[in-house]
Amino acid sequence: MAGKRVCVIGAGPSGCAVLRSFHSAAAKGTPIPDIVCYEKQADIGGLWNYSWRTGIDENSEPVHNSQYRYLWSNGPKECLEFADYTFEEHFGKAIPSYPPREVLFDYIKGRIDKTDVRKWCKFQHVVRDVQYNADLKKFVVTARDLSTQTSETNMFDYVCCCSGHFSTPNVPHFPGFDTFAGRILHAHDFRDAEEMRGKDVLVIGTSYSAEDIASQVYKYGVKSVTCSWRTNPMGFHWPDNFKTVPLLDHIDERSKTCHFKDGSTAEIDVIVLCTGYKHHFPFMSDELQLRTKNILTPNNLYKSVFWEDNTNLMYLGMADQWYTFNHFDAQAWYARDYMLGRIQLPDKNARLADDKKWRAREDTLKTDEDMIVFQGDQVKELIAATDYPSFDIDGVNKTFLEWEHNKHENIMTFRDKGHRSVMTGNMATVHHTPWLEALDDSMECYLRTGGSGGLKSKL
Ligand code: FAD
Ligand code: NAP
Repeated sequence: MAGKRVCVIGAGPSGCAVLRSFHSAAAKGTPIPDIVCYEKQADIGGLWNYSWRTGIDENSEPVHNSQYRYLWSNGPKECLEFADYTFEEHFGKAIPSYPPREVLFDYIKGRIDKTDVRKWCKFQHVVRDVQYNADLKKFVVTARDLSTQTSETNMFDYVCCCSGHFSTPNVPHFPGFDTFAGRILHAHDFRDAEEMRGKDVLVIGTSYSAEDIASQVYKYGVKSVTCSWRTNPMGFHWPDNFKTVPLLDHIDERSKTCHFKDGSTAEIDVIVLCTGYKHHFPFMSDELQLRTKNILTPNNLYKSVFWEDNTNLMYLGMADQWYTFNHFDAQAWYARDYMLGRIQLPDKNARLADDKKWRAREDTLKTDEDMIVFQGDQVKELIAATDYPSFDIDGVNKTFLEWEHNKHENIMTFRDKGHRSVMTGNMATVHHTPWLEALDDSMECYLRTGGSGGLKSKL
């Protein structure tokens, strides 16, 4: 390992997983390479590190954050729990299943701050360029220090790209947008549901941003929500002031009148484009650039991690996400063991055959359950190869299914349910206030046991 160098791009949950994996090896006495983690923000946490800003940040960089005020976990925390650092270890007690953003941010930071890995991080450093020098067999990485406005170029043996893929919005155009008499924004720029109070809101898209932003604006007093779908409607039992229509067709010139594909119309004040994100790596040279849709087996990545044309480049966290934090850990521990020489990858033909096998299986998946089990199998395969603590993935799959069931029973109350941790065996506590009434999402309020976290305590 002596003399080997690893560059980690991004210190969100995926980048932190890489840092923690090396720390864990070092703690067991394994010599580890030199590590530099470039993070363009001033702290770790990635999307969980909230910023009120939209557009361009304080350093004139595109704002990374896509999360919003009042965001609560959309899946059970029991499905993302780190196997080497449980919620109970962090908070010192059992807590409910769907924490607000600040609570999850604290959990992410807590695990990292049990280690000294921040010493590897260069904050406010944005990676601008990554090239591969085939003669030297090194990656040449240029990063810009945003506080001093100076650049540095360094060579690395390995690059772990952990820059996320829910930051660069996919923004379609619809006829009439140019003269629409209301407001148009993408989910990436959505920050505060309170500004939608009393408004007629159109949500385009049917995935997690759409369902959560629709629910949020309902919670904070929207007048009506029109949900517009392209492929399939969301299929939840929405409140009475919701309606579901096919895709937007056009908007009358200089008006708020939206026409949909079935000929129906609606008067709309605000359009929120919940139309997803692009995998976007402008800092990667053309031949190293991941080009893929948001799928479970991203293109050209062995085990959804290793760049097929040069396995010393690894992309982490790039698949569509059911499993999140513990999946990033599984990938990180596997990537670490490759870099430590403990895991040998097969030759390219065998790797491509393996990619093909997983992709062929992905192509057969029909239901959410199929996709959850599929991603669970990917996680199983990775953790079986390393010393990442093993956990009951079939049990987590079951928790995902309970969550799906609860959402379809009542999209406004699924967050009031509790789930069992497969890590500790303990049940989550019940939150003191139903989610729909819990307007104060601060960590202090959330962790309070008993009492009201709702309207009364806020006023
Ligand atoms: P990110 O969190 O995006 O972190 C990437 C990091 O890379 C950032 O810190 C960024 O600043 C840095 N970076 C980017 N480019 C550069 C560069 N060129 N140079 C240096 N640094 C760079 N998951 C869940 O499990 N539960 C949820 O409830 C949930 N809610 C979500 C809500 C929203 C609105 C969104 C968009 C996603 C949500 N997710 C949720 C999924 C989320 O993607 C993951 O939880 C997680 O944040 C992904 O971690 P990551 O490290 O791969 O990427
Ligand atoms: P996504 O899952 O990739 O979904 C993109 C959606 O956009 C799909 O419904 C797609 O419809 C639609 N779409 C794309 N292009 C379109 C077009 N031209 N016209 C109409 N519709 C179009 O993206 P996402 O919903 O933003 O979710 C991203 C991530 O954020 C997920 O990991 C999710 O878990 C997370 N998230 C979490 C929370 C929370 O925790 N509270 C909240 C929001 C988001 P088709 O089906 O027709 O392709």
